[in-house]
Amino acid sequence: MNRVGYRTMKATFDLGPSAEKYTVRMGGCQSCPIRCMSQLKIPKLQDYGLSPYVANSCMGYFSPQRVMFKGAKDIEEPGDGKMFAAAIGASLADDYGVWCNYGLIGTDLKHGYESGIFKRVLPKEEYDSIPWHLLEEQDPAFLVDFYRRIAYKEGELSHLGEGAAWVAKRWDFGDDYWNNPKYGLWSRLGFPKHHSNETNAQVGSLISCMFNRDAQSHTLVNLVGSGLPIEIQKEVVAEIVGSPDGIDAPLNYKPMNQYKAKLAKWAIIKNCLHDSLTLCNWMWPMTVSPHKSRNYRGDLALESKFMTVVTGETYTEESLDLAAERVFTLHRALTVKNMNTVDMRNQHDIMTDWIFDKDSDLKAFEPGTDKMDREDMQLALTLFYKEMGWDEKTGAPTKETLERLGMHDVAAELKRLNLLPV
Ligand code: SF4
Repeated sequence: MNRVGYRTMKATFDLGPSAEKYTVRMGGCQSCPIRCMSQLKIPKLQDYGLSPYVANSCMGYFSPQRVMFKGAKDIEEPGDGKMFAAAIGASLADDYGVWCNYGLIGTDLKHGYESGIFKRVLPKEEYDSIPWHLLEEQDPAFLVDFYRRIAYKEGELSHLGEGAAWVAKRWDFGDDYWNNPKYGLWSRLGFPKHHSNETNAQVGSLISCMFNRDAQSHTLVNLVGSGLPIEIQKEVVAEIVGSPDGIDAPLNYKPMNQYKAKLAKWAIIKNCLHDSLTLCNWMWPMTVSPHKSRNYRGDLALESKFMTVVTGETYTEESLDLAAERVFTLHRALTVKNMNTVDMRNQHDIMTDWIFDKDSDLKAFEPGTDKMDREDMQLALTLFYKEMGWDEKTGAPTKETLERLGMHDVAAELKRLNLLPV
């Protein structure tokens, strides 16, 4: 157990082989055996005015690499450039508290720079003061200047810190921004793809449509990425939703069916449960096991067993899932209230065009693509709303569902605001 962190070895996974000699240990949350946070000591960081110690995981490291969109030159030895850019940027972004919108800050910088928009919207004096030559020379010292401007709100460029929805509006980013498959904007609400159509097609897509930011939901990707053969994954999914058709082999996707809607609901509900229990949705639920002796089955009731032991009250998987369904329905009701519309289908659950138009030589559901089909995704939304007990036309929670879940006060508030579907 104590060594599983070294097997995870997120330092070299995230940063490449150069990171191994700088890795002090793997860190992580209380009692987690996986330990996904790599902790490094890189003395050279002091040359950039930073502590030699840096710790992070995943996007914390990837995001600065995206800011260095021209690439990152090697610093001490061949192949270490990306690691240095990641470590320098992660340290700066953490210390300054800069939000990166799941890496989109780098995409927005790239678009503004390469399209010439910055030359139009930034005052000349400010534009000339930005060390673009460092970016062009692939020098990570650019990051020291960049993150300071964002954190201290220095000048027009600092609006990058507000996120895609605001800067696209402020600087008039057009369709070439929203519909660029390389940028991966999921929604015009301003967030990127995050385990979306590439994760079981409509299921990952539904999950991405439901959140108000990038969908930080790993329930499904933990299964899809488990390494188990698709035949076993299908057996497991059948045990969860009643049919193996809830999941397809990667890049061999089939049109929508009700079991995919059920699987999307299951994935989101578990995500809400874990957020509430302060369990890590990167680790949980224990859907599968690496042990052949368990027939590769995990234990989806484990959260309720722990909860029962810790509180002395009796919980079951079903009772916790119902509680989490209330959480997600409340989340949806708040979205309806804050957007001041019941029309979630057309105002909220929207996708950018590249998802439907990518791979122009292939049609949706042909082998080799995760391209989606517009009509099929509308059906997916309808089937998902049905699973949630939401209005099938608009996607807003109905009075009946809110009351079934014991949320009479929420139903009354939405009625007062004329935000219950008719
Ligand atoms: S609980 Fe999750 S975030 Fe924390 S160390 Fe473990 S895998 Fe990483």
